[in-house]
Amino acid sequence: MEKLTRTDNVRVRFAPSPTGFPHIGNIRTALFNWLFAKRHGGKFIVRVEDTDQDRLVPGATDAVLAALDWLGIDWDEGPRVGGPFGPYFQSERLDIYQKLADDLVDRGLAYRCYCTEERLKEMREEQARSKERTGYDRLCRNLSQDERNRKEDEGGRSVIRFAVPKSGVTAVSDLIRGEVVWQNEVLDDFILIKSDGFPTYHMAVVTDDHLMEISHVMRAEEWLPSTPRHLQLHQALGFGPPQFAHLPMILGPDRSKLSKRHGATFVLDYRDQGFLHEALVNFLELVGWSLDDHTEIMTPSTVIENFGLERVNKAPAIFDYEKLTWMNGMYIRQLPEEDLADRIMPFLEDGLPKECLPVDRDYLLRIVPLIQERTKLLTDVAEMSEFFFQTDLDFDPQRLIQKGMDRQTALAALAACQTEISNAKIFEHEPLEAALRVAATGLELSPRQFFGTLRVAATGRDATPPLFETMEVLGRERVLDRIQQAISRLGDSD
Ligand code: GLU
Repeated sequence: MEKLTRTDNVRVRFAPSPTGFPHIGNIRTALFNWLFAKRHGGKFIVRVEDTDQDRLVPGATDAVLAALDWLGIDWDEGPRVGGPFGPYFQSERLDIYQKLADDLVDRGLAYRCYCTEERLKEMREEQARSKERTGYDRLCRNLSQDERNRKEDEGGRSVIRFAVPKSGVTAVSDLIRGEVVWQNEVLDDFILIKSDGFPTYHMAVVTDDHLMEISHVMRAEEWLPSTPRHLQLHQALGFGPPQFAHLPMILGPDRSKLSKRHGATFVLDYRDQGFLHEALVNFLELVGWSLDDHTEIMTPSTVIENFGLERVNKAPAIFDYEKLTWMNGMYIRQLPEEDLADRIMPFLEDGLPKECLPVDRDYLLRIVPLIQERTKLLTDVAEMSEFFFQTDLDFDPQRLIQKGMDRQTALAALAACQTEISNAKIFEHEPLEAALRVAATGLELSPRQFFGTLRVAATGRDATPPLFETMEVLGRERVLDRIQQAISRLGDSD
């Protein structure tokens, strides 16, 4: 249970490693930290953990920041904004880690290890053969001072390892998972500083969580096994540890590890697939947390006011792409039309054939009310609305002939439409529908047949938003022109 009040000095961090593009799990972590900071009037810090130089992926940091920007997750300290505890890139803090690690060596709490890669490989193979526990065998922990001096003189590469206590236990009182206890004997003498002078994740994370005065470490459950190491290190360095909260894993609806087949995994792909950032945020808030046992659509302020770790689940959370898509549709429906038009615009520019561009914003604003209800993803809109923009409709003229009709009746229906539409005093959907219904009856055609033919002529489609509203937006001239083209094409076809 959380024992916090709003007055506690909450400082939380999101600590991405730029070793890949941000995925759903990363951003869920960022979001929960951000909500927690907001809830408690605290600070949210972004710290880039770029210490694994071999695995750096160019562009990954920018992608993380772009994902946060897109979702409206702003930070108080970190890249771009700086702050009093910087630098916020770990690669710029190497001397800090080195100094602290050297102090630990001087105090006998860490040691230099000179083992070569080959020796470690042989050791691991031997451990595997004899089914022993794998891990560093602490050979260098026991070197005499003379042996150490000799190794130093040889000038080989070395790392600094932490001397983990060989007995006893390390326990954490996790704010989500409760008490978790580890036997120290199962912990390896892990590396603090690598031979390239860069710290390991463990060294850097503990140092920075302390120096940046982080009050709560909220991170993915996969880091729970690292926590005893972090606690040991905090203790050795004389730091008071932060509180820990490990967020539940995220699984697909089939309860397997979240992967591409459950939908996109990279956050920015959701933007490109036409999700609204508000919908993704709302959805992610429910991946492991809940407001109550039923509410799905929540305003940001409701979530901030109510966010707390006591309603974060221990059990894995399910990521359900279908539900996200449904939620996106809900959010699209709630958007003011102007706003929706602005969000649709780039997707039309991208998705419509070139000859339909540029899109006139006022025209789009008239289309929006017709498609808003039916849109689940912004990417649906280009396909759905293409016929509003095309100059020539491309369809098989035979489709003008509805069930129970022949070419002659279809031509007669189109001619009747021409007459009614030309004669209509005002080109508005209600009178238009009334007049056309009468015309259908006159030709002894059912509304389904008559309007089916008209729909294909006016739009090239069998299914569209409501036909008469659609025609009103298309405009009299364009509709008449399309009907004329349909008549010619049907007349020409055999
Ligand atoms: N750099 C780690 C990551 O990418 C952060 C782990 C932590 O929050 O301690 O997930």
